[in-house]
Amino acid sequence: MFVRSVLRSVPRLRWAARRHYASPSEPYELVVIGGGPGGYVAAIKAAQLGLKTACVEKRGSLGGTCLNVGCIPSKAMLNNSHLYHQVQHDMKHRGIDVSGVSLNLAGMLEAKDSAVSGLTKGIEFLFKQNGVDYIKGAASFVSPTRISVQLLEGGETEVETKNVIIATGSEVAPFPGGGIPIDEKQIVSSTGALSLSKVPEKFVVIGGGVIGLEMGSVWSRLGSEVTVVEFLGNIGGMGIDGEVAKQFQRLLAKQGIKFKLGTKVTSAVKTNDNKVTLTMEAAAGGKEESLTADVVLVAVGRRPYVEGLNLEAIGVEMDNKGRIVVDNQFNTSVGNIKCIGDVTFGPMLAHKAEEEGIAAVEYLKSGHGHVNYSAIPSVVYTHPEVAWVGKTEEELKKDSVEFSVGKFSFSANSRAKTNLDKDGFVKIIAEKETDRILGVHIIGPNAGEMIAEGVLAMEYGASAEDVARTTHAHPTLSEAFKEACMAAFGKAIHQ
Ligand SMILES: Cc1cc2nc3c(=O)[nH]c(=O)nc-3n(C[C@H](O)[C@H](O)[C@H](O)COP(=O)(O)OP(=O)(O)OC[C@H]3O[C@@H](n4cnc5c(N)ncnc54)[C@H](O)[C@@H]3O)c2cc1C
Repeated sequence: MFVRSVLRSVPRLRWAARRHYASPSEPYELVVIGGGPGGYVAAIKAAQLGLKTACVEKRGSLGGTCLNVGCIPSKAMLNNSHLYHQVQHDMKHRGIDVSGVSLNLAGMLEAKDSAVSGLTKGIEFLFKQNGVDYIKGAASFVSPTRISVQLLEGGETEVETKNVIIATGSEVAPFPGGGIPIDEKQIVSSTGALSLSKVPEKFVVIGGGVIGLEMGSVWSRLGSEVTVVEFLGNIGGMGIDGEVAKQFQRLLAKQGIKFKLGTKVTSAVKTNDNKVTLTMEAAAGGKEESLTADVVLVAVGRRPYVEGLNLEAIGVEMDNKGRIVVDNQFNTSVGNIKCIGDVTFGPMLAHKAEEEGIAAVEYLKSGHGHVNYSAIPSVVYTHPEVAWVGKTEEELKKDSVEFSVGKFSFSANSRAKTNLDKDGFVKIIAEKETDRILGVHIIGPNAGEMIAEGVLAMEYGASAEDVARTTHAHPTLSEAFKEACMAAFGKAIHQ
């Protein structure tokens, strides 16, 4: 009792008492390679379950792509550019007179950087609190149970471990064929697009998926003339409902973003006047046209990252997309090595990686784990936001599943109308025979928060009627969700 209270009152002692130190005679029970949302969550969970755990991360800060150059900095820029745009263009409708509004881009970038550093340091704190050893360096397999680490501070160390989780994530996919090299100044990836020191006059985005649209929105709000060039016939990327995609494009176009769909970029050449000239043609083939930009964002996707892991030496199997192959318990082809997150199959999303991190550790510890891949939400954090989970109408038609659709517009929702923010709708797709919810598609204010209700409903196998008979607070945007469910099994009241 006395020892416990002393430890509690002296944080450093408490930390030392909990911490597991590696020694040649006492290997780790788990080493996680990669400190992104998959890896750091797995490491914390493992330590919580009593496994002696280390996490190796080579970036110099924890949180991976998501916290450092992905989800968090992009949302900081989206949120603050939205506020800037709103103050400039929207306040007059609300009885608020503002004048002298100007952009301090350096300050906005600083706010983004401080959000990132606060959160990455927070994970370091969680590692300490939970007793995870944080090894700063690049990991490489010597054998399935021995990992060498090139330490960031210089030198090399080796650790022994019974089990490994590979969580090395993904990297920006280069333009197909490699013809458009990224310099992170004029031709940028999402990483460069998050740190431009000047608002480009003309900003061209190659790729109308989630990242391209989010970054396009940011720079459009800050004053760029933005054109999105997309190979496919719709924006929004994989899994977006066709009707939502159309409405989404209409709303972004209203905000001033131009779209060239069904169009293939063939080259991007830097010219002497500090511009980039893009050449493009119809995806189906056709006449060439060109477009000039100050900055071009290449946002054509991401690819799994395994560089330097020395996987060949231990025989970890990969597929033809460069992903590490796993079974349904995240086991790779090498017995004691599991793999999670962007570097293996499935959507490249932080929350998917996190769920897998927890499940992989639980499989390791107890033989049981759970990730429901049919209930993983996707969100585009533009304004309005777009969010979905489950099946689209197009997918269900292809699978010959009979379904009913309930839709409710935000223009009929009292809160959205009051807030003068009424673009979009909630669409519920339910199985015809059972009324079970198979898909939820939302475009509108706060869609990214509201989708959680759809995910929960699907996780518990709810019917549209179940949700429709659940009380939702008034006046809230979520009443649109309830009314869409009412419409799916009967009729909405307010529309
Ligand atoms: C601009 C942008 C915006 C995004 N927005 C969202 C969003 O809003 N929501 C969302 O869910 N997802 C978003 N994503 C995707 C999300 O960032 C990824 O899905 C997520 O980070 C994947 O997590 P992970 O742990 O698998 O890998 P990562 O986050 O990529 O982390 C892997 C880590 O492993 C480290 N590593 C690699 N090799 C080694 C090695 N040999 N030794 C040691 N360390 C190594 C890397 O340095 C890296 O830090 C976004 C991505 C981008 C680029």
